[in-house]
Parts: sequence; structure tokens; C-alpha cells
Amino acid sequence: MARKYLSWFLLTITLSLFIESLVFSKGIKVKEVIDGDTIVLESGEHFRYVGIDTPEKDQPFYLEAKELNQKLVESKEIRIEFDLQRKDKYGRTLAYVYVGETFVNAELVRNGLANLYTVPPNVKHTEYFLKLQSEAKEKKLGIWSEAKKPEKNYLARRGSKRFHRPSCTVILSAPQKDLIIFKTKDQALKQGFSPCKICQP
Ligand SMILES: [Zn+2]
Repeated sequence: MARKYLSWFLLTITLSLFIESLVFSKGIKVKEVIDGDTIVLESGEHFRYVGIDTPEKDQPFYLEAKELNQKLVESKEIRIEFDLQRKDKYGRTLAYVYVGETFVNAELVRNGLANLYTVPPNVKHTEYFLKLQSEAKEKKLGIWSEAKKPEKNYLARRGSKRFHRPSCTVILSAPQKDLIIFKTKDQALKQGFSPCKICQP
């Protein structure tokens, strides 16, 4: 008997934790899509999709990423899930966004229109995004269809999840002891590092 109560107790705890992590908020409606990973709600609140990074205006596939995002969320009701931090340094709300059964952040990565981009401690779906990214890369979808000039090696600065070409100004200023070296770009990607927006390795 005691065991039965214990399993009910555990089930209740699990369920309540699950419900707490997912915020089912009816009536959260998207007013505008800014780009692949930023939206504005009807309330005026700005949301930044957490765990991913889509191309900037001057980069290839910027429009494709924005258009997919529009197709998925514009004028629609969304459901949101938070990670450990709720705001970024620009005051935008960090969110995982769902429309019906579709996990929007993941969909962008799956289609090769977003990179995995992890800022600890927000790592809830990192493994999943990494898997989707590897699949998109293998299929040469979107950003992965571009041939880029290869480097002898790639560098990252300890404590950051970005990797760079050796000539990048960001990395040139870093002390030697803080550098992490990757032999290939693939090695950096597989370890969850994201390409720098400046040197675009
Ligand atoms: Zn760089």
C-alpha cells in the first residue's frame, strides 16, 4: 500500500514539475516577426528564441530564416517554455516557442536555417538542437549548402561558445592560454560551438 502512495506521490511531483516548466499561456499572439529568431508579441514584448542563432541581415539565408519564422508564427497563438534565464542583456524574453505540435526553435535548425547557439546556463534542448544541426549539415540544407574557405584550424576563447577563423580580430586579442584549438570546423560544431558572426567561419 505504501508503495502505491509513493508512486502516486512521485507521479504528482513529476507532473507538477512538467507543468511548471511549460507555460501554457492562451492568448499569447505574435504581432510581428523581426527576423529568424526574434518576434514581437501583440503585448509589445520582444522574444528572442533561445538556443539558436539565425543569419543576420547581411548574411546568406537571412530572408529564408525570416520567412520560415513568419510562416510558423506570424499572427498565430504560441505556447512558450523558459530556460533558466528569462531575459537577455537587451531585455528581450528568452523563449522556446511552440505552435501546436511544432517546436519552432527546432524547426529552424532542422531546415538548416539556424545554428545551434548555447549560452549557459540555458542548455535545456542543446543535445536535441545538436542532433538536428548534424542532420541538416549532412543533408546540406540552407546555411550548410555554402562552401566556405577552409582554415588550418579554428579557435575559440575559453568561456565562450563561439569559434573563429585564426585571423579574426575577436580572437587575436585573446591571451594564448585562453584559446581552445579545433583542427576542423566540424570538430567545433560537434562540440556545440557556434560560428562567429564577424569572421563567419
Ligand atoms: Zn570571429
